[in-house]
Amino acid sequence: MTENSHSLDPQDWTSLRAEGHRMLDDMLDYIEGIRERPVWQNIPDQVRGQFQQSLPSQASDLAQVHQRFMQEVLPYAVGNSHPGFMGWVQGGGTPVGMLAEMLAAGLNANLGGRDQMPIEVEKQVTQWMRELFQFPSSASGLFVTGTSIANFIAVLVARTKVLGLASRRVGITNSGKNLIAYASVGAHACVSQAIDMAGIGIDALRLIPVKADFSMDMQELEKQIEADRAAGFTPFLIAGTAGTVDVGAIDDLNTIADIAQRHALWFHIDGAYGALAMLSDEIAPRLKGIERADSIAFDFHKWAQVQYDAGYILVRDGQAHFDTFATPTSYLKRESRGIAAGERWPCDFGPDLSRGFRALKAWFTIQVYGVEQLGRMIAHTCELAQHLQQRIVNEPKLELLAPVNLNIVCFRYRAADQDLDVLNRDIVFELHESGIAAPSTTKVHGQLAIRAAIVNHRTGKQDIDQMLDAALRFGDQLSSSNDSLN
Ligand SMILES: *Cc1c(COP(=O)(O)O)cnc(C)c1O
Repeated sequence: MTENSHSLDPQDWTSLRAEGHRMLDDMLDYIEGIRERPVWQNIPDQVRGQFQQSLPSQASDLAQVHQRFMQEVLPYAVGNSHPGFMGWVQGGGTPVGMLAEMLAAGLNANLGGRDQMPIEVEKQVTQWMRELFQFPSSASGLFVTGTSIANFIAVLVARTKVLGLASRRVGITNSGKNLIAYASVGAHACVSQAIDMAGIGIDALRLIPVKADFSMDMQELEKQIEADRAAGFTPFLIAGTAGTVDVGAIDDLNTIADIAQRHALWFHIDGAYGALAMLSDEIAPRLKGIERADSIAFDFHKWAQVQYDAGYILVRDGQAHFDTFATPTSYLKRESRGIAAGERWPCDFGPDLSRGFRALKAWFTIQVYGVEQLGRMIAHTCELAQHLQQRIVNEPKLELLAPVNLNIVCFRYRAADQDLDVLNRDIVFELHESGIAAPSTTKVHGQLAIRAAIVNHRTGKQDIDQMLDAALRFGDQLSSSNDSLN
């Protein structure tokens, strides 16, 4: 016997290939026909119950497990690939990204380090991102799971920069400094989580009020920094947002850059979904000042439609980034030749050692579609938001709750003598359960809003109209049935 009978490779490659082809067809069929499906549907108890089995000791047939996936998993996803999905801020994925994921999985590369082309692919994407954001060639970048972790990495780099490298040994409590960070009240919750995880404490994040357009109030920001300095604190970081999660507001990035410069603070941008609007010539000017940031966190898996997960952190001062994470260890020694060659590895720029090949799906997506097409797609989602806004403004039963900056529209249905928070929440429940469309909810000025975040590249005008028509219909039904109860 030449082959190892313990290997997990199949004995019969022919039938594995046939099943693999069926799987590929199933998923391409799924994406091609996504429009015919409900956006989302309730998971039947019986299906959920299938996932409480005990650990399987015996082998199962691949075809059988594949069938279970088709029947019990695939129909009950969240639906973010569907053109009617407008909930939260989630990308729709592409068939190209899916195929790239398959190639990456086949290669099974570990991108922690070493001399391999997959790392050159990641470096290529970093080079593209430097170009897009006009960062210098000394800037560093790294794929991570998402912007939550990218923000965290940025806070750690800024923290180490202000406290010095010794803080990595002695910790931050011995520094004698009370670090203070700044973000707007509209900042994503993961910013305060990052401050928390960095050991600085959530109370050290000053949430600056916003103006009528939901962008951070620059006068309040500077006043707060000066007050903190006067009180003996150590301001160290401003986190601006390019596209807030609730309403898509963009902070005045240029002025934040000026303030950060004046007070020698780290200027970070949470651009989770908005930063990649730089791909669109039309939208990019609204992000003016982004090129002056010290670090930018964003997600390829949102507006760029790359498959989950694909977050990214770009840091202007690559050395500071390296100094924050690099940890000399003998088994990770760099050699002059062979597999272990190379000076700086991805594992020197973040907490992950083993890392998947996330860069490949981004590399494929950017190449296959090109920046022009991706930019037009992004601009189109903003045009759809304008269309939706127009319809809301023209409809007396509806009320727009926030100005439409980019691609997020917050509105609500109005009816006399009703609890509008309950009514609008119920409209969203009905929309989800009908499978027609999936907006989400948020609070704007304390009022519950139906929130349509138009991120998916498949969404068209008819999907917007269908969502709004259905929202009006459910609003009419729910408010009249409430009337009859009274
Ligand atoms: C989505 C989002 C995040 C979180 O990003 P993840 O990729 O989910 O970790 C942070 N900030 C903003 C503004 C977002 O839209």
